[in-house]
Parts: sequence; structure tokens; C-alpha cells
Amino acid sequence: MSHLIYADHSATTPLSEAAFNAMLPWLRGGYGNPSSIYGIARDAHAALENARAQVAGVLNAKPSEIIFTGCGSEADNMALRGIAHARRSRGNHIISTAIEHHAMLHTLDALKKEGFEVTLLQPDSEGFISPADVEAAIRPETILISVMAANNEIGTIEPIAEIGAVAEAHKIPFHTDAVQAFGHIPLDVKAMHISALSLSAHKLGGPKGVGALYLKNGLAAEPVIYGGGQERGRRGGTENVAGIVGLGAAAVEASASMEAEAARLSVLRDRLIRELLTIPYSRLTGPRENRLPGHASFCFEAVEGEALVLTLDMMGAAASSGSACSSGSLDPSHVLMAIGLPHEVAHGSLRLTLGPDNTEEDADALIGIVRNAVERLRAMSPLWDDMQKNRI
Ligand SMILES: *Cc1c(COP(=O)(O)O)cnc(C)c1O
Repeated sequence: MSHLIYADHSATTPLSEAAFNAMLPWLRGGYGNPSSIYGIARDAHAALENARAQVAGVLNAKPSEIIFTGCGSEADNMALRGIAHARRSRGNHIISTAIEHHAMLHTLDALKKEGFEVTLLQPDSEGFISPADVEAAIRPETILISVMAANNEIGTIEPIAEIGAVAEAHKIPFHTDAVQAFGHIPLDVKAMHISALSLSAHKLGGPKGVGALYLKNGLAAEPVIYGGGQERGRRGGTENVAGIVGLGAAAVEASASMEAEAARLSVLRDRLIRELLTIPYSRLTGPRENRLPGHASFCFEAVEGEALVLTLDMMGAAASSGSACSSGSLDPSHVLMAIGLPHEVAHGSLRLTLGPDNTEEDADALIGIVRNAVERLRAMSPLWDDMQKNRI
């Protein structure tokens, strides 16, 4: 068996060497509770504050504006619920998009049950949200605008600086779910007029189970987790010191290598796109430009996405699909529906997302494996048979 080609970095990433090494001391000797006052506790506290400064530095934020959370989903929950609840006396309307992650969409559903009104903007066919649409949706009672920085399924990088400028002109807080973007593309909360931003360590070489919310100084957000006074009263719970240190190290490493790595991955990504689109009845989902560096996503007609992923697994490659059979639902991904793909096309979706360990050889091998898998599955597909007969 040759090695596994891991091409699912949008789902999670392996722990980087730098993050692992930074975490080790805090998994063993450095077990002090950062809230206590003796030596090993003060050490843990210092490590926490160092990581806070590291994450803040990458975002051009202040350390006091970083709140560590248990994951990206928690950061999204806190941004939406925390800000909505804190601003409730000013209005009840929230603007977001139809292509957000479920951590956002399901939280918005919960807020609707509490009486908030939510406008979900539709993207264009490449997944872009228009700043003009954001502006047109603003009402006097709008209290929050939230648009993701980059889409996890189709790789679209949203025009968040422009959307942030719209929000700022109307004096409405602007949150962005930057879980796919942080550590991969440049983010500057000041230049982009961002008032709140969610990120997660395990999408950039850090450990699972740790995230952060950037919350601009002066912007109120009620806690989602009440407890001791940790995170200056904004998030209760003894801090995951090792995990947070790993996040800080991963953030610094990703930021230092960002430009070179984005250039390298874009070449591999474009090679995947160019070669895999030579497969008949295939299409790219998401844009060619303004796309996450290592992100390539497709639909192959007359192929079931989940079957494709399992076939790739047998052939030594890990990837994912927006097809939702595994969740017991017949509906394909809400993102593929929102960009206007017909059901039968969206069912054949495949996402290949590359990371630091992937080489040119991996990209070439992936191209061969996907081609082969699509051919195999189509050879067994009655749908493909019909398509061939009708089209010849
Ligand atoms: C992965 C992801 C999340 C959730 O982050 P977790 O740390 O896994 O909870 C939220 N939003 C987007 C866009 C993601 O890709």
C-alpha cells in the first residue's frame, strides 16, 4: 500500500510539528490552572497570554480582543447569540447568507425562535455575496451583519472588506466566520472593518477542540458559557492551555509561510482543476479567481458523491463530498443548492482540499485516482448508460 493522500484539509488538518512541539510541555509538567497564583499557574497564565498575543498579531487586533473558545462552532455561537442578545434593545434583525456553515445557520434558526428576524442573502452562481445586496437588506432594526470570509464547500473568498465598509457606514457590527480563511489568506480586522471574527485551530495545523472569537473592544457580547471569570468574564471554563498554545503556534507558523504556501498550493489546485475538468460532464463549483489556495471542488454527473468518496478511500485518497446521504438526508448540500445547481448534478460533488504535506506527486496521483474512480462508478451507473444513449 502506498501512503494515504490526505486531501480533506477543509475538514481538518494534521497537527503541525510546530504546534505539537509547543503543546508538549503544557500536556505534562505545565498543568497549572492559569487562574491560580503560584508558580506553575503563573507559567500557564503567561503561556495563555503569549498565545493571545500571537493570534491577535496575525489579525492586527489587540490581545484583549481575543476570547478563546472550545471550537470554531462555539465562536460562531457566541458571535451570533452573544451580540444579538446584547443588542436586543436596539433591534431584532440580522443579515447573513444562505451559504454559511451549519454552526451559523442552526444558531440563526435558534435566534429566530427567540423572535429575531433573519435575512439570508443568496450568492451568485460562484458563491459570491454582493456588498450591494448586503446594503439593500439593511433596515433600521438591523443589529448585526455576518458573512463568512471563505466558503468551506466551494472555496469562494467573499469580499469582506467591502461588506465591512458597508456595515461600518451604517454603524452595524460586522461578524465573519473566518474558520476557513484564518491562516490561509491575509486577514486584517482593522483594514477590513471587522467587529467580530471566528476561527478554529484545527483548520490551520493546530489541535481540535480550540477556537477563538475576536471581539472588537467596546462591542458587547453576552457569554454563551457562564462560569468563573475566565477570559475576562466572557467565557467561563478553565482554559485548554495546551490547545491554546497550539493554536498560537499554528497561527504564527501559518502566517509566516502564508504567502509562499498559498502560491505553491494555488499551482497544485489549478492543476487539479485543469485536469479533472477534462472528465466529460464535469464542472467546477465555486470560482476560479478569489478562491482558497488549496481548494478544488467539482461535480461529476451520473456519479454519487458519497460513492466517489468511498471509492477514493479504497484507492488511497481521503476527500469529501457535499452529498448528504450519510446524514440520512436526500438533500444535497445547501451551498450547492444556493449556487443554483440542479439536484442531480449536486449529488455528484467532490471536494479536494490540499495542505502543507501535499506534493506535486500527490496532485498527479489524485488526478489519476479521481479519473479512475469516476470511470468505474459510471460504468456501473444506469443513469450514465441512459445519458450516453440519449446524447448520442
Ligand atoms: C470547520 C468550520 C466551522 C466549525 O469549526 P469547529 O472548530 O470544527 O467547530 C465553522 N465554520 C466553518 C466555515 C468551518 O469550516
